[in-house]
Amino acid sequence: MTTQVNKFDTLLIANRGEIACRVMRTARRLGLKTVAVYSDADATARHVREADEAVRLGPASARESYLNVDAVIEAAKRTGSGAIHPGYGFLSENGAFVNALDQAGITFVGPPASAIAAMGDKSSAKARMHNAGVPLVPGYHGDDQDDALLRAEADKIGYPVMLKASAGGGGKGMRVVESGDGFQAALDGCRRESKAAFGDDRMLIEKYLVQPRHVEVQVFCDTHGNGVYLFERDCSVQRRHQKVLEEAPAPGMTPELRREMGEAAVRAAQEIHYVGAGTVEFLLDADGSFYFMEMNTRLQVEHPVTEMITGQDLVEWQLRVAMGERLPLNQDELTITGHSFEARLYAEDPEQDFLPATGRLERFALDLAGAGLAPDQVRLDSGVESGDVVSMHYDPMLAKLIVHGADRDAALATLNRALAALDVQGVVTNRAFLQRLATHPGFKNLELDTRFIERNEATLFAPKAYRLEEYASAALIGLGQLARECESDSPWDRHDGFRLNAPHTIRIALCDPASVQADDSDAVVVVEGTRESDADPWNLTLTGGSVDGATLTARLQQLDGDAVAVTLNGHRRRLQARRDGHVVVLSDPAGETRLFWRRIDAIDHGHHEAESTLTAPMHGTVVTLLVEPEQRVEKGMPLMVMEAMKMEHTMTAPADGYVECFHFNAGDTVGQGDVLLDFAADA
Ligand code: ADP
Repeated sequence: MTTQVNKFDTLLIANRGEIACRVMRTARRLGLKTVAVYSDADATARHVREADEAVRLGPASARESYLNVDAVIEAAKRTGSGAIHPGYGFLSENGAFVNALDQAGITFVGPPASAIAAMGDKSSAKARMHNAGVPLVPGYHGDDQDDALLRAEADKIGYPVMLKASAGGGGKGMRVVESGDGFQAALDGCRRESKAAFGDDRMLIEKYLVQPRHVEVQVFCDTHGNGVYLFERDCSVQRRHQKVLEEAPAPGMTPELRREMGEAAVRAAQEIHYVGAGTVEFLLDADGSFYFMEMNTRLQVEHPVTEMITGQDLVEWQLRVAMGERLPLNQDELTITGHSFEARLYAEDPEQDFLPATGRLERFALDLAGAGLAPDQVRLDSGVESGDVVSMHYDPMLAKLIVHGADRDAALATLNRALAALDVQGVVTNRAFLQRLATHPGFKNLELDTRFIERNEATLFAPKAYRLEEYASAALIGLGQLARECESDSPWDRHDGFRLNAPHTIRIALCDPASVQADDSDAVVVVEGTRESDADPWNLTLTGGSVDGATLTARLQQLDGDAVAVTLNGHRRRLQARRDGHVVVLSDPAGETRLFWRRIDAIDHGHHEAESTLTAPMHGTVVTLLVEPEQRVEKGMPLMVMEAMKMEHTMTAPADGYVECFHFNAGDTVGQGDVLLDFAADA
């Protein structure tokens, strides 16, 4: 056991973005000098601005900069850095880098190379874990790779099974096999993939758990032989095996299960003579059985949720352990307080298969006070500020929003308010997707497993991309509805003053009914319809979304029942159209489309009679009341403002008179048809 003392006063952080900034924060607090490294793409990045010193590594490509072992070591020597913190990604799990640092006499803030190697190969890691008494997913991880033997092992385990590349990672060479029939083809495919990706085609087989949760344990070991666990995190909300939302503690853990999993994780770490921060990942089955999956031999992205519930600074622990100190606390001194969530903010478009996005961040701000949140409830770990450029060269994670609450419900409510208060402009992000996840009833109700996103695709992915014909047809139906209601002199008409017999322009806003309330203004398409007389077709101009700038001539003909014929630029289509309040439901053999519409042009009350009440024309929010009850107003004077679909709608006085009373206040939500105010018209 090595117990040498490695005091250092200068720390180089071999990383970028939010983790580099986060490590620097702790290093500064401990009185260390901080050194950043950067590529040409990051010359003015936040981590460079915040460091005491910074050294250029090379061009933008990661291979020539952040992954360049020689350049990083050279930078450490130039700046007299006694230690290097690798963050995560890049060089954090690279045994060759650790060996090179040993030779250069620089302390690596992390485990020894031998521990990284021990966990690098899935098959040998499983064999060692088995020896240490850590439960494994039932399966086969032997050296004999004969086809018939593998098939016999799979039959013995029972289907479905999962084939995994022993040398694997990142989901490559990994397949689920549903039955014996498909086994050979899957085996051949996995071997090819693994050979291509890792130059190695050894396979292991595991029982495939159908609805497991991903629960991982944070462990810490020092160079004096001590090891503790800092409890667990639930990271079941994943997209393509990548974590999106994490929380600690894991919901539904009993004290016994927590201790069992924690002790198994410490055994796993001590089996490989681990030092520093590590994470042992388990699959937790519905019946409470848990199985070792892998160990990540570094600090993880989601470590802050553990910091929030334990009140510990894990980077400080890492630095102290690297200096040769003992672990700051024993197992029985560690406790859990409250609940914490982390949401990862990525520059990416969830609606385009999570395609990474780039650009200049016009604004990046979190107004805690404005959202009524206290600084000890919310932590924003960020690598960017307003004005920074998000490039295509690196991982698109911009920041992490971490919250703490007395219990899970309180923390989740805080997460939602903080997500809403996060103002990001200029670059597409997954913020709205995170909001949909965090407000999802299934998530709140603990329906957690690794296929949560997959199972809830229909409700999690936003506003579908509508086609031009769908917008135009829904707009025409909205126009037709306005016209009919005018003829029947309905209450709606009396508010809107639709004049059938004059040349007119009418503007209609359309959006996915699911986003009427959401902050999703780019999902709104505005259709401007004009025509000279009722006999003419409408001339439609569309603004917004993917159909911005489109123009067409359009006609609507009512057929029998719900059937209508919509003729756009001379192309006639027959479809079924139903109305459900302000939602138009269009259906044809290809499927059903729903669009919410409302009129947004100036509203003319010219020829209408006095009203006794004014009702809300759509579902929305009251923005402001503009007059006092009993105050005298003239016909047409604005009385109150409502908002829906990010657009304002002003309710005006239908006659000379006064408002007797308002039924809502600013900020209230109103439903379509709700009575907003009582109005007394002059006799
Ligand atoms: P990689 O190293 O390629 O990322 P892992 O072994 O860590 O692969 O597995 C990644 C993810 O795949 C897990 O988080 C889990 O969602 C799923 N998974 C892995 N093994 C199993 C299994 N035996 N049964 C069910 N799901 C599994």
